[in-house]
Amino acid sequence: MSIDDTIQTLFLELHQNPELSNQEFETTKRIRSYLEKAGIRILELGAKTGVIAEVGQGSPVLAIRADIDALPIDEQAECDYRSKNNQAMHACGHDVHTSILMGAAYLLKAQEQDLQGTVRFLFQPAEENFNGALELIDVGALNGVDAIFGLHNNPALTINQMTSCAGPFSANVDRIEITVTGVGAHAARPEAGVDPIVIGAQIVTAIQTIVSRSISGLDAAVVSITKFLAGNTWNVIPETVEMEGTVRTLTPQVREQVKTTLKTIVENIAAGMGGKGELRWFDGPPSVINVASWVELAKKVAQQVGYEVIDVEPSLGGEDFAHYLHHVPGAFLNLGSQSDYALHHPKFKIDRDMIMPAANYWFELAKAALTTLHSSLNSNPKNSPENSSEKNH
Ligand SMILES: [Zn+2]
Ligand SMILES: [Zn+2]
Repeated sequence: MSIDDTIQTLFLELHQNPELSNQEFETTKRIRSYLEKAGIRILELGAKTGVIAEVGQGSPVLAIRADIDALPIDEQAECDYRSKNNQAMHACGHDVHTSILMGAAYLLKAQEQDLQGTVRFLFQPAEENFNGALELIDVGALNGVDAIFGLHNNPALTINQMTSCAGPFSANVDRIEITVTGVGAHAARPEAGVDPIVIGAQIVTAIQTIVSRSISGLDAAVVSITKFLAGNTWNVIPETVEMEGTVRTLTPQVREQVKTTLKTIVENIAAGMGGKGELRWFDGPPSVINVASWVELAKKVAQQVGYEVIDVEPSLGGEDFAHYLHHVPGAFLNLGSQSDYALHHPKFKIDRDMIMPAANYWFELAKAALTTLHSSLNSNPKNSPENSSEKNH
């Protein structure tokens, strides 16, 4: 079977048998068996799900990552290879990312003798709940790695389009909870209590001034309150209000600024009105910060293999690939998948003709990146192979 046929088959198998984050047990077995069939070496690092594999030898080491998990969605796509499980669907295209990386692994394996170093493949679990990258980093997936690439399909682009940008490419994704505590009272006698609903409403409105008044017009931020729960009947002023929401920012500085301002607003508006406001902030994945030189190489190779390279604004969505970039330099990019429906939509369906060209792109980019790393290792003795394993710590 040709590599193209093999990875199309893998794609169909993955798509029909999706598994949710941290439960990718059959998916893991399937990836292992495809790697074993091609004689590709698997690193046994002890990850519960997900697979780490390599071709080539020695330094430098380039890593490429694909995510493998699916979403809890009942698939409604018009196709003859729908998910067999109505509790799960590959609605983010991680099945296609996995198939593309497998194709690259097969292509690189066929030229293993000629590689100037090692290419490590990270088949990462649990991207959707933002745990997987940290899990793989914990088991040592980045040890010795000099640079890393990852991609996400983009349904808004045609299958011959590629995009990326230097600096922030996705958002810091943080979750917030706010509790406002007042004093319950009869609805007819508000003066006897402290109404947390009125305080909560003021807080929701005031929070919107963070983006319009506290952040530079040149910086991006979003603060959304998405849940507001209070009271349970018509004639009682309740004791508390519970809110939830999300904050999206692109840089660590703006992230800190929003966090501090939000806390001040929540605590002081509530205090000023006789109640108590409490903010609880939960850090999500940081923003993907791409390194310019690696973005440049990714774009150059994309053009060489026939992609149209287009420019985009950074997205305020999240991507846990960001965690890898805190340890090693690299770049995250988008390739077009041309779907009529967006990511996470029950009718999301990629154009399967994107798979083989994308595998070939990883193959060419991996070789180009090893060449770049090889020459920088030789010109900079501090980065000699003997020292490279220390660089991640
Ligand atoms: Zn997703
Ligand atoms: Zn995704």
